[in-house]
Amino acid sequence: MHRAALDALGIDGVYEAVPVPPGGLAEALVALRASGIDGFNVTVPHKRAIISHLDATEPVATRIGAVNTVLRVGNAWMGTNTDAEGFVRGLREGGFDTKAPALILGAGGAARAVAAGLISAGAEVEVAARRDAQARELSDLGATAVRWADLESAFARARLIVQATSATLADDTAVPFVQGLPWEAAQRPACVDLVYDPSPSLFLQRAVAVGCAIQDGFPMLLHQGALAFERWTSLPAPLNAMRAALLG
Ligand code: NDP
Repeated sequence: MHRAALDALGIDGVYEAVPVPPGGLAEALVALRASGIDGFNVTVPHKRAIISHLDATEPVATRIGAVNTVLRVGNAWMGTNTDAEGFVRGLREGGFDTKAPALILGAGGAARAVAAGLISAGAEVEVAARRDAQARELSDLGATAVRWADLESAFARARLIVQATSATLADDTAVPFVQGLPWEAAQRPACVDLVYDPSPSLFLQRAVAVGCAIQDGFPMLLHQGALAFERWTSLPAPLNAMRAALLG
């Protein structure tokens, strides 16, 4: 996606994957600084841990507690987070109401970004996780925790349900997870699964079966990338080229 964007704008640049083992962040940052690059993305498992290695963090990343994009500002590394805004832009692009009362399933890093994005957009957000204590941790963002045992009433209230667990990545975890949800209580909310492979996930297949409009994780992936590209280059992201590269 980023290479296609660089090509589309005729920018002489590269975007490379750099594997960094857990515990290897400090060493990697020294090498990245020496390389003179303009910025980089950060992914699992480093999104939280990197914060203590950066010179500064923008308020959105501090609030979420995770950084997915780093920019070089002079000699300093500045961390930000484009997942929150990327999710909201993807939702808007799909014609969904970003202010609709929302329920987020899962309370990990992606759930925190989605909660921050939806709350900034003006939505009331409830969150439920299989460990109730993890859901309560999102209260610092302004989300209301719902006990997993009370999911039925939350399904009935929600106009948007966001699947933000990693359960739907693989069949063996997806089947019990999706079968265990109280679909009979749902009042045809819009349903989003942050997972983009497989797509449609079992969660989205079930949502369609009960009459819900759906979106997979692809728009969030595209828009968090586009926002990062815009921060690094100060140029509008060539969305069509980036979308085509992701689909290709
Ligand atoms: P985390 O590991 O931080 O959080 C995962 C969450 O899922 C936790 O709440 C975890 O609970 C819960 N969970 C895992 N397995 C199950 C299960 N079987 N039943 C119920 N809950 C479960 O991951 P992330 O938040 O970073 O990512 C979550 C998903 O979002 C991933 O699938 C990832 O691919 C996707 N994602 C998509 C993005 C996009 O651009 N579209 C961006 C970022 C993420 P517990 O802690 O108890 O295990």
